[in-house]
Amino acid sequence: MSDKVVVRMAPSPTGFLHVGTARTTIFNYLFARHHQGKFIIRVEDTDVERSSEEMTAAILEALKWLKIDWDGEVYYQSDRFAIYKEYAEKLHQEGKAYYCFCSPEELRARREQALAEKRSLGYDRRCLNLSEQQRAELDSRGILKALRIKTPQTGTARFIDIVGGELTRDFGELDDWVIMRADGRCTYNFSCVVDDHLMEISHVIRGNDHIANTFKQQTIYDAFGWEKPQFAHVPLILGKDRAKISKRHGAISVADYQEDGILPEALFNFLALLGWSAGDDREIMTRQELIESFSLERINASNPIFDPVKLEWMNFEYIQKLDDNELLERARWVLINAGLTTRLSVESHWQWHLKVIHLMRERMKTLNDLPRLGRFFYTDDFDYDEKGVKKHFADPDTAQRLKQWHDELAGVEDDFGASKIESALRKLADNLGINPSAIIHPTRLALTGMTGGPGLFELMELLGKEKCLARIDRAIDYVKGVS
Ligand code: GLU
Repeated sequence: MSDKVVVRMAPSPTGFLHVGTARTTIFNYLFARHHQGKFIIRVEDTDVERSSEEMTAAILEALKWLKIDWDGEVYYQSDRFAIYKEYAEKLHQEGKAYYCFCSPEELRARREQALAEKRSLGYDRRCLNLSEQQRAELDSRGILKALRIKTPQTGTARFIDIVGGELTRDFGELDDWVIMRADGRCTYNFSCVVDDHLMEISHVIRGNDHIANTFKQQTIYDAFGWEKPQFAHVPLILGKDRAKISKRHGAISVADYQEDGILPEALFNFLALLGWSAGDDREIMTRQELIESFSLERINASNPIFDPVKLEWMNFEYIQKLDDNELLERARWVLINAGLTTRLSVESHWQWHLKVIHLMRERMKTLNDLPRLGRFFYTDDFDYDEKGVKKHFADPDTAQRLKQWHDELAGVEDDFGASKIESALRKLADNLGINPSAIIHPTRLALTGMTGGPGLFELMELLGKEKCLARIDRAIDYVKGVS
């Protein structure tokens, strides 16, 4: 094996890109880039029934969204069946693997019996010692046969894991597992080793749910006499309840976070720091800084806890780093998808949209906060907040005051600007001898449906006089209706 770092991400395309897999991928990617090595993608689509091209496309799409680039073409294990078969047959020829003629029914029955007798459940090696004659006879009857690896029966399998230290298992616990099924297709653990060897993988960085597989895979390296890569098994991400993170915890795939309005650079940074740190207290780190500081030795051996509040905090920080133009560039799709505007409208009213972004940005923890908290900018179709109605529309004078405010505003000529609107309001409050807030709060509710938000006078300027007047009118009718 050369000294060059070559790592891989080996997704099974049976679902969307899970955040756990994304994080392991980020570790692989950062490690490769840190060492100027290679990062390759190998799609493990040998499980034909469960794999799909749509899922492969979705996984690659999610990687592109995270701006994780890979080296060379994407490998597909389904293109490589013949290679695995050839290697499996080689082990057979060398006497390191043997054919097993036991049917699935027989195996099941024997396993049940072993269970009842509290014996080991592994394959009982019945076919290991078949004579040439017996084999020929079974073959002539067309009995299906699978190829099993001959595992040492005594001694200890061991390897040094970069994260977990020395790991051992008795060979007695590892049975002679199937490397090639009766249909000639090789199993995951076998194909994986053949590929890792042929692709000159120097480090296998994967979830620690694969430790049992690593023990099985050691036997294959040994059978071929191949040098083993180094292994780094990454502890799995847990939810706050310390259960393995799943749908129950909310968003679970990278696409879910994209849909929730998380920026890819924030998710990348967040996942990189989930169970890894640069050894100082830096939290917001650019990709370059992450690449420069990354090392496998600093991966924490205990399970990290996924904290969605921290992700939102980080996303907020990343949103604030974008200038108004960039932020609008990202957020416009969210508005369009929410049906609040169209591409054409954004393009032709870019400056107006920029001003909205400018007003809203400090309130945006996610891109989705724009349509959620700023819906009123884009549509008249919103309801009044219930608590707000009780608080700000209940005073018997409200309708009357809103009417006076409406007329005052209607008199504002030419530039309907924030400072002009503000002086008009203060003048009216003075004249009526009331606190300006007695007009401000009902007006905000009338114009936005909400009790909080960006500066009232600034948002009124952006809505424009006509909309402000119409919405105040609507509120007057509503207030009269409820009071
Ligand atoms: N296809 C395996 C998975 O998705 C990859 C395991 C590995 O990285 O070796 O879990």
